[in-house]
Amino acid sequence: SPSLSQQVQRLRPSSTIAVTSRALEMQRMGLDVLSMAAGEPDFDTPAHVVAAAKQAIDAGKTRYTQVQGVPELREAIAAKLKRENGLDYTPEQVTVGNGGKQSLFNAFFALLDPGDEVLIPAPYWVSYPEMVRFAGGVPVAVTTRPEDGYRLDVDVLKAAITPRTKLIVLNSPGNPTGAVFPETTLRAVAQLAQQHGLTIVTDEMYEHIIYDHEHVSIARFAPEHTLTVNGASKAYAMTGWRIGYAAGPLPLIKAMNAIQGQSTSNASSVSQWAATAAITDSREFIDMARGQFQQRRDRIVAGLNALGLPTPTPDGAFYVLADTTRIHHDELEATRIILEEARVAVVPGTDFLALGRVRLSYATSLEQIDAVLERLGRL
Ligand code: PLP
Repeated sequence: SPSLSQQVQRLRPSSTIAVTSRALEMQRMGLDVLSMAAGEPDFDTPAHVVAAAKQAIDAGKTRYTQVQGVPELREAIAAKLKRENGLDYTPEQVTVGNGGKQSLFNAFFALLDPGDEVLIPAPYWVSYPEMVRFAGGVPVAVTTRPEDGYRLDVDVLKAAITPRTKLIVLNSPGNPTGAVFPETTLRAVAQLAQQHGLTIVTDEMYEHIIYDHEHVSIARFAPEHTLTVNGASKAYAMTGWRIGYAAGPLPLIKAMNAIQGQSTSNASSVSQWAATAAITDSREFIDMARGQFQQRRDRIVAGLNALGLPTPTPDGAFYVLADTTRIHHDELEATRIILEEARVAVVPGTDFLALGRVRLSYATSLEQIDAVLERLGRL
């Protein structure tokens, strides 16, 4: 068989996939497995968004678009960034990709030379270090602690800066921690970036899934040093439509467009028109989703803590990190026991650097959360 590149051999298979495929196999065998592993909202895409997509198809908007996205969508994104985040970007400073994932991928390839270091607060979303390595960079984990609610300590971040540091990745609200970084932290990180000539890549995918806090965009404090990445997946329940975007300094956006132009070209034209409708007006849906997520968060956090599985209360996103050392000190083994004996699928913290913990997604109904807590209680 063909010999694979060293590059791709360095890519780490995710331990999440092992659990998910075992859970699916058990479900196929007819076993009643409850999954708390999902990384997506359980709601349907809002009706006005679906209608806009149908209209686009009927109007024949089914051809290639500009690589960076149709002007109407980029105008809607620029207006959204102004309205909701207080950021000033022209539509030329916006680029649309096939999910936030592609926008992040383009950004790392546009910014990193071999050996460049990227600071990433941990526990982190597993794709950041993998993408960074794929682009030739060196991911450097910056520890955050459960007792601090996984909020970033800027002194710890500062201590990790070396002459090779190029980027800081921020993800607030974060996956898998749910941590929301306060404005004082964001201002301090912005100042560090300015002092050391670093670029901040901020992934604000979960900005609308936030409880008792206001989302703050770090680009307000260091616009010249920041790339803001966001997307339609989590905010408008559009994971399958594959629309993400980034806004930032024009030379960086142009470089990202050049990369995308030689790889995937534009994101799906129909999805772009759907996203235009979503981004222009989805207040009602966002408020509904936030309300439901908050109820679920309260239920699952209280339930897990009552079971003796210590779980910090996250301020955003739809995940909790539960300490499962009471079940087994090794989170991979705990994950296996929870799956095989309680028939609940969770994600081990291993790849996130959340050792001794598992991630549960509460993007499921309250009934399912109750059933999961009941099963864990019996276990
Ligand atoms: N960023 C974070 C932190 C995520 O959790 C995800 C999805 O799980 C993404 C980005 C990617 O989202 P998408 O590519 O669907 O826009």
